[in-house]
Amino acid sequence: MNRQLYEKLIFDYSRPGRRGFFFNEGNAQMPSLPDGLLRQTPPQLPEVDEPTVVRHYNNQSTNNFGVDTGFYPLGSCTMKYNPKVNDLLASDPGFAAIHPKQPTATMQGALKLYYELQQSLSEIGGMSEFTLNPYAGAHGELTGLMVIHAFHDHNKDFARTKVLVPNSAHGTNPASAAVCGYEVVEVNSLPDGTVDVDDLRSKLDNTVAAMMMTNPNTVGMFEKHIPEIAEAVHAAGALLYYDGANLNPMLGIARPGDMGFDVMHINLHKTFSTPHGGGGPGAGPVGVRKGLEQFLPAPRVVKLADSSFDIDQHNDTALGRISSNLGNYAVLIRAWAYILTMGCDGLAHVGPLATLNANYVMHRLKDLYLLPIPGPCKHEFVFDGLIDKSTGVTTLNIAKRLLDMGFHAPTIYFPLLFHESLMIEPTETESLDTLDTFCDAMRQIAVEAIDSPEVVKEAPHLTPAVRPDDTEAALHPIVTYSELCNQ
Ligand SMILES: *Cc1c(COP(=O)(O)O)cnc(C)c1O
Repeated sequence: MNRQLYEKLIFDYSRPGRRGFFFNEGNAQMPSLPDGLLRQTPPQLPEVDEPTVVRHYNNQSTNNFGVDTGFYPLGSCTMKYNPKVNDLLASDPGFAAIHPKQPTATMQGALKLYYELQQSLSEIGGMSEFTLNPYAGAHGELTGLMVIHAFHDHNKDFARTKVLVPNSAHGTNPASAAVCGYEVVEVNSLPDGTVDVDDLRSKLDNTVAAMMMTNPNTVGMFEKHIPEIAEAVHAAGALLYYDGANLNPMLGIARPGDMGFDVMHINLHKTFSTPHGGGGPGAGPVGVRKGLEQFLPAPRVVKLADSSFDIDQHNDTALGRISSNLGNYAVLIRAWAYILTMGCDGLAHVGPLATLNANYVMHRLKDLYLLPIPGPCKHEFVFDGLIDKSTGVTTLNIAKRLLDMGFHAPTIYFPLLFHESLMIEPTETESLDTLDTFCDAMRQIAVEAIDSPEVVKEAPHLTPAVRPDDTEAALHPIVTYSELCNQ
């Protein structure tokens, strides 16, 4: 098969009999296994020498783009820099080599860290208690909705079958509600991107279990009417759920609990700076206000009267388990380290800086890109493509052209409120130089769209892969080497 270097798979280098090393079978202690357990045919593994393996994977790694290689303004994802000291701590054998089932007396330090993170997140969110068990934001949403379900069931309030979701919401919100067995009802947005409170009121009644909200919302606007919304939702007997994916600009400044939210999740991999992308790892701790603690899943870490720590398996809760053990521990260590190294003052700086950076980029580009909701914004904002639509250059083209210029693309075609959404979130960790280089690139693309639109429409020109068919890849993935050879 004649494929480009970057497209090659390790199987392409396979030659019969080629090996990285040889066992000296004379000295090897081979355990004897029953015949029934021995495989009858050799595994279909590539036969390759060590230098080939090392070169192949090193070359592959340079085809990747990450927050450690460049600016990553992927809106709603908070791709801030992940401090290396957090990784250092997470890889300490004292944490990394423990087993979830070993006696609690032998892992008091690890449990203390876990307990402190539960406490810190409760303080930051203005909640009574947190579970650190969920593995992602979406998993947190599902867990939170299950808590809400358990609460209504506990009150024998079985008529509540609906969850309200603004039409600006992230797709995981309606998906989680549906997975939890609820009917999803959409709430309209006003022209400024915030929730239409009149529309919300018209949909609130005793069949509504909860309203899910993101604040600031997905267009980067703070929902100013949140006290009024909370009051209306509670008056109808429903609970208010906070999607914490956009907690970054609120850190240390405003707390969801104080805004009237009853249940919330935090995406530790976003706001608390643990590496993410490519599907993981993540953590989506869920917090609840006073009175809902009993519905949280097990297990959790508790502090005993003698100041030691223990794992409370309390399996008799309404919810039971939503994870195999206590959660994604290496992610939790990083978040804990981030909170401690930032301190209260540092955390309170995050939001204003993230907001300043977003507004700076917005102001430098809004003469060329269409800003449907005028600022100021919070940590992110959305353009509706270029102002000049006559060239036919789309948001997809702009995103692809940015790759040629060494940037990760912003989030595109989300939120669904606009046709050409281009959602930019610079985060607080970027310097003025980086922001300026990005703005210069965006301005250059707007000029190219007029002078040489084909350059933008056919982009990217410099990346190893050009325009993969995302839909085909999702519908008909080729997951084995033999399938690839046979296609
Ligand atoms: C990222 C995100 C989610 C989902 O979180 P995951 O950790 O990716 O599962 C939910 N809502 C919003 C607004 C998000 O940006």
